[in-house]
Amino acid sequence: MKVTIIGGGVIGLCTAYYLRKAGYEVTVIDRNDITTGCSFGNMGYISPSHFIPLATPGIIRQGLKWMMSSSSPFYIKPRLNLDLIRWGMTFRNSATKKHVEESAPHLNNLLQLSRELMNDFKRALPESFSMIEKGCWMLYKTEKTGEHEKHLAEQAHAFGLKTIMCSPQQVQEYETEVEVNVAGGILYLDDCHIDTAKFMRILYSYLQKEGIKFWVNTEVTGFEKSNGRVTGIITDKAELPCDELIIANGSWLGNISKLLGIKMLMQPGKGYSVVYNDLEKNLQYPSILVDDRTATTPIDRWLRIGGTMELSGHNDNILPKRVEAIYNAFKKYYPAMNIPAPDINKAWLGYRPVTPDGMPYIGRHSKYSNLLYAGGHAMLGVSAAAGTGRLMEEIISHKPPAIPLGAFRPDRFG
Ligand SMILES: Cc1cc2nc3c(=O)[nH]c(=O)nc-3n(C[C@H](O)[C@H](O)[C@H](O)COP(=O)(O)OP(=O)(O)OC[C@H]3O[C@@H](n4cnc5c(N)ncnc54)[C@H](O)[C@@H]3O)c2cc1C
Repeated sequence: MKVTIIGGGVIGLCTAYYLRKAGYEVTVIDRNDITTGCSFGNMGYISPSHFIPLATPGIIRQGLKWMMSSSSPFYIKPRLNLDLIRWGMTFRNSATKKHVEESAPHLNNLLQLSRELMNDFKRALPESFSMIEKGCWMLYKTEKTGEHEKHLAEQAHAFGLKTIMCSPQQVQEYETEVEVNVAGGILYLDDCHIDTAKFMRILYSYLQKEGIKFWVNTEVTGFEKSNGRVTGIITDKAELPCDELIIANGSWLGNISKLLGIKMLMQPGKGYSVVYNDLEKNLQYPSILVDDRTATTPIDRWLRIGGTMELSGHNDNILPKRVEAIYNAFKKYYPAMNIPAPDINKAWLGYRPVTPDGMPYIGRHSKYSNLLYAGGHAMLGVSAAAGTGRLMEEIISHKPPAIPLGAFRPDRFG
């Protein structure tokens, strides 16, 4: 059977991996060359700790406060855009305690499955992609945030995750090279991190050798449909037939769905990151700087810092103040670390695929019998890629899925 995947980001490639392993003939179409896109410059966390969906009570009030500041970690470009309005209304309706209580166990299932399945990639890929399995800090600056983080850690324990709660002195004992200025921290031991660009390159090269066909620099521009099935994929190069079609094109998932007559709620959530090389002193652990929504990823002498969430559509503008804010946040937590202010021209940007309830779309869509979605993972694309890929294979092979899929239904918004 021929399976075609649109999108060669981390979700598309991990899905291709599991389908090929199960014996399918797989084609991946990507309009770029699989070395760009959101899956390359992200923080590389594989984080079971992130089981709370983005839409939570209080986030709208906090978001509105942040909107007032040009250097805050969140921004919505005000504009009259129907997709954004529909997305925003659904987000508002989803940001409830009930939604969080119902969704967290499902996200936890997906994240823990994916964390476990990263071992498949460690075994299969011919080179190391620098997977570092020592945990990730949630570092906080205020006691109020600390209380909230401790409450989350208790929920994490209920899901079987292991944490260590630390005083500022204890955090410092872990960070042997760099001074840390925090009110405390929680180390999530099940989290790990990878060099995400390296992972993508090694996986891409492995999949090519395994016989997966890649149509790169090829844009999907339309579809042939007949009798409730998608029968052909129209690209700017040629037309392809397909038996099963998986849409995995990240933050552009809403745009491509319109070509199928389907309205999928999706907004690109732009984020930035900056890299420092050859550091004499570096962090020992990755960290989320909770009060400032900034993240750090150290690997040996290399460090990436990143963050911000801008809902401003797909435009490749970099807002210097927000990149500087990532650096300034970093300096608040690691004041003595000697890294220069970022060169804005070298900052990386990526578009997180953000759904309005913070849950990805994984499964078959009811409009066409051979149409599946794998996308909308927002800040969890790397964390959940392995599990998503495996679930796609199970659905196509008519196997019972490893975890219940109801919460991820792609047509849940009608
Ligand atoms: C600053 C930042 C930090 C992050 N950190 C983390 C992290 O630590 N851990 C984590 O899990 N996640 C993280 N994320 C999120 C993560 O990067 C995304 O969730 C993930 O990359 C999404 O992968 P994807 O495969 O769905 O989409 P993408 O990687 O965006 O891939 C989609 C692909 O589809 C292709 N495409 C689009 N339209 C078409 C078309 N019409 N025809 C053909 N091809 C098309 C694109 O060229 C692209 O290659 C971060 C994101 C940002 C911005």
